[in-house]
Amino acid sequence: MPIDEERDTRLAVFRGLTLKCPSCGKGKVLSGYLTVKDECDCCGQDLKYASVDDGPAYFTLMVVVALVFPMFGLIYSLFEPRPIWVALSMMGISTILALIILPRVKGVFIGFQWAKRLHGF
Ligand SMILES: [Zn+2]
Repeated sequence: MPIDEERDTRLAVFRGLTLKCPSCGKGKVLSGYLTVKDECDCCGQDLKYASVDDGPAYFTLMVVVALVFPMFGLIYSLFEPRPIWVALSMMGISTILALIILPRVKGVFIGFQWAKRLHGF
């Protein structure tokens, strides 16, 4: 691919959301839970320059808080459970949501970096 060719940001971000290679959309972008592969198994796209640092963690935190925080008030006002049960259930839900969302957000960040040619892509 020529260096000046424009890349489709939406497509790359969507492929990242599905944890696929931003270049070909077939190979996986992560090995294990959060480890970025050095290169795509299908197209050989170099992925070792992907450096998303703490961005996905902060974004995941914002999303989880935005989803869970309103549930506190809603559950508490509707069912009036004991506060300890609300706190424990919300901690469990928050943990599960974060574990589901975090790798996908990391894929989105990698796709965006690839599309904008950041960090040597
Ligand atoms: Zn690929």
